[in-house]
Amino acid sequence: MVTPASAAATPASDERAAHGSALIPAAAERLGDDPIFALNAEASARARAGESIVNATLGALLEDDGALAVLPSVLEAIGRVPAKQASAYAPILGDPGFLRAVASDLLGRGPLAGQAVVAATPGGTGAIHHAVQNFLEPGEALLTTDRHWAPYRTIAEHAGRKVETFGMFDATGRFDVPAFGSALLELAARQRRLLVLLNFPCHNPTGYSLDDSEWRAIGDALAAAAERVPVSILIDHAYAKFGEEGGRGFATHAARWADRALVLVAWTASKSFAQYGARVGALVAIARDDRERASIQGALGFSCRGTWSNCNHLGQLAITSLLEEGELRERAEGERATLIRLLAERVAAFNREAARAKLLYPRYEGGFFVSVFAPDGERAAAAMREHGVYVVPMRGAVRVALCSTPARDVPRLVEALAEGVRR
Ligand code: PLP
Repeated sequence: MVTPASAAATPASDERAAHGSALIPAAAERLGDDPIFALNAEASARARAGESIVNATLGALLEDDGALAVLPSVLEAIGRVPAKQASAYAPILGDPGFLRAVASDLLGRGPLAGQAVVAATPGGTGAIHHAVQNFLEPGEALLTTDRHWAPYRTIAEHAGRKVETFGMFDATGRFDVPAFGSALLELAARQRRLLVLLNFPCHNPTGYSLDDSEWRAIGDALAAAAERVPVSILIDHAYAKFGEEGGRGFATHAARWADRALVLVAWTASKSFAQYGARVGALVAIARDDRERASIQGALGFSCRGTWSNCNHLGQLAITSLLEEGELRERAEGERATLIRLLAERVAAFNREAARAKLLYPRYEGGFFVSVFAPDGERAAAAMREHGVYVVPMRGAVRVALCSTPARDVPRLVEALAEGVRR
């Protein structure tokens, strides 16, 4: 039980206070909660009190009635895992069947899959953690887009690394390849290695997906930087199954890059199997050289042991069946296709209404979120809350979670956005 501090004060705790906090200074001012969860809690409380609320804050796909969307095949696969197998520790690097299944889900059964080292991680978050720990020295910075998922910085700083960014969009609203290229070279002049972190397709928070020419241009920029220092490129594939070709197009780019750079992918079942709670993910590293591959495998195993030891065995076994067993796999794909259609309806409704309202936002073809540009994100989000519409404020924009907004609420959402961004 947690007792209020004042009631719990004792001579011993007074004495501790006099000597200062037991926390190290770097940890003393940290906030453990995500501001998005606080906004969600406020929206839910108002809804419970009887107000009509549109809550476009949370990053989970909800049905139109507000229930969490799940895949019945996933729940069935979890139920089918033999209890004794699920109860046993998984191998430190992950269940071998799971590691193979992830490699072939991402890379098919071609030669690239044979060059992959895979480690199980708790979601994509764990994969990003392992990449930061192993492909940057303490004090070095990863490079990512100026608009990015906020935990990138938490993960990096927690590991004693930093984050540097480049402007993501050019004046025409496309991925700013020259800005990316110069940021790479500039950082390469200051660091002995580079770790680039890009979240495509369906970037969180902007919704942007790269087209083929942008992927190619990124590859060229990576190759130029790789002439100066070793380069790792980490693709955060969290929303891949909601993008074009279910994210499979990425393997073509990875094959092109793998000669010049180390290609890493943060793979996760959280969104693709609507299974956020089981914490099933993996870090995949594609390395051409046998010795490098063996070293990476050792390093990732060491990191697993030194953090979570091993991951959820039940989740790995269930996801393996869903990836590998014909009938179960087909059902999961069919159920996922239904969710993709549900989201696509919302995206279409948003694009229609937002164009009419002349909102400014990046190309948005699918995915959980879109960002709408606003002179002052905080002010826009506060104005929207007055109308019972919740979005997440960011610098110069607000993030809108279409994943949690039914298509019928999109006109109201866009109306509130149009008013909010003018404030
Ligand atoms: N990357 C991005 C961009 C995300 O939005 C999320 C989750 O919201 C993740 C990674 C990690 O999710 P998980 O750790 O559940 O796989």
